[in-house]
Amino acid sequence: MTIEFKTPDEIEKQLRQVQVVAENVMRPESRVLDDSEHSRPLNFVHMMWPQMQEMERANLEASLRRARNGGNGESPKSEGPKSDEPKKPRTGNLALVHMIEMLSWGDAGVYLCIPGGGLGGAAIQAVGTPEQKERFLRRFTEGDPKWGAMAMTEPQAGSDTSNIQTTALFDDATNEWVLNGQKIFCTSGKLAYAESDGLIVVWATVDKHAGRAGMKPFVVEAGTPGLKIVKVEEKLGIRASDTVSFVLDNCRIPADNLLGESREKKDGETKGFKGAMRTFDATRPIVAASAIGIGRAAFEFARDTLAKQGVRMDYESPRWKLTTAQADLLDMEIQLRQAWLLTLKATSLLDSGGDNKLPASMCKVKAGKAVTVITQKAVELLGPLGYSTQTLAEKWMRDAKINDIYEGTGQINTLIVAREILGYTRKELK
Ligand SMILES: Cc1cc2nc3c(=O)[nH]c(=O)nc-3n(C[C@H](O)[C@H](O)[C@H](O)COP(=O)(O)OP(=O)(O)OC[C@H]3O[C@@H](n4cnc5c(N)ncnc54)[C@H](O)[C@@H]3O)c2cc1C
Repeated sequence: MTIEFKTPDEIEKQLRQVQVVAENVMRPESRVLDDSEHSRPLNFVHMMWPQMQEMERANLEASLRRARNGGNGESPKSEGPKSDEPKKPRTGNLALVHMIEMLSWGDAGVYLCIPGGGLGGAAIQAVGTPEQKERFLRRFTEGDPKWGAMAMTEPQAGSDTSNIQTTALFDDATNEWVLNGQKIFCTSGKLAYAESDGLIVVWATVDKHAGRAGMKPFVVEAGTPGLKIVKVEEKLGIRASDTVSFVLDNCRIPADNLLGESREKKDGETKGFKGAMRTFDATRPIVAASAIGIGRAAFEFARDTLAKQGVRMDYESPRWKLTTAQADLLDMEIQLRQAWLLTLKATSLLDSGGDNKLPASMCKVKAGKAVTVITQKAVELLGPLGYSTQTLAEKWMRDAKINDIYEGTGQINTLIVAREILGYTRKELK
């Protein structure tokens, strides 16, 4: 087996374009968007929308083609080339993590405002039927910018998702699902529901006593009556990103908005929680890439600022000859490279259709911790300049921590890694 470490030329070319946006559109607005939480990075949104539409279109078409060609059409992992097609490795996810690393180097909060299906779209791709993909995802390929979001977390159900209390009851008379409950910390929830013709994938239980087996994903489209945004969060970091709480009060949605199932199968076997996990296998490397982008921004800034004071990176001398600052800078770079290699492994497996659950959690744990340490170290090495709002170092330190929290905290992903390596079940190791 050969391992190819060279970034494919196509991705490299795309990356240079993204770098231009990161440098010239994101960085200049970083401070002002951080200061004025809840204002929108409109320049960025409109600049990225054509590219995102293109990407959404390619993903949708590929997914529908797989379904037509006899794949089950339910998972990006199920794709295999037709026997008469030349075997070209899939690199869609690889391109995505490269782009997200660069955008987060530009500004992680602004990057999170990127239009497109987002987490909601990932859930639909993971468990939706071909008909649902067409119906829900086509909107992200046309018209004005739109957002997708996913709402799983509730006040009593964060890490412990089996404790979700939002209910979904089927009303036979109207052929609708009726959702009731409360969701908190939903990224891009307002953009998806109130500011565009987007959608939110809401996780609810059809049987509170069934734990994870009762959990199912439902699509609530923008403007559906019965969903009310009750809070827009003010946060430590990623302040340009929209994070909301909402209540569902007899929110009625069509029977066919239950993801992965046809009307006739509404009481049958569901993909439920396994669907959520499949979404995370695809999105955890994305969070890791975002963490690495922030970490690289802080590392490069600290390295270049210290270089002006005569502290240079030294890759040659033995460690005992380095100054503490030089050794710290080397450690920062090592952490970044370790996290990036794990992220590339998780992503390549995803692209090739392999099981990437272990590396997906591994890269998320590693990158979430690395970015926290690296950004704090940058502030430390820069002294008063690092703590001052004159530079972005203190902002990167605030933006970093979220990567160790959402999509499963560092502790929860460490548990997943331990279970996978040691062969324990969820019940045996919790
Ligand atoms: C800015 C932001 C955006 C978010 N966006 C979304 C979103 O779009 N959609 C969504 O559904 N959710 C979202 N979340 C929610 C996020 O996924 C949860 O905050 C996260 O899963 C942790 O849940 P919790 O906050 O309830 O913490 P808790 O589960 O209450 O955990 C508290 C602490 O205990 C630790 N802990 C818990 N259980 C264990 C255990 N078994 N072993 C060891 N340690 C444990 C945790 O690691 C954590 O440190 C977002 C959160 C934030 C802050």
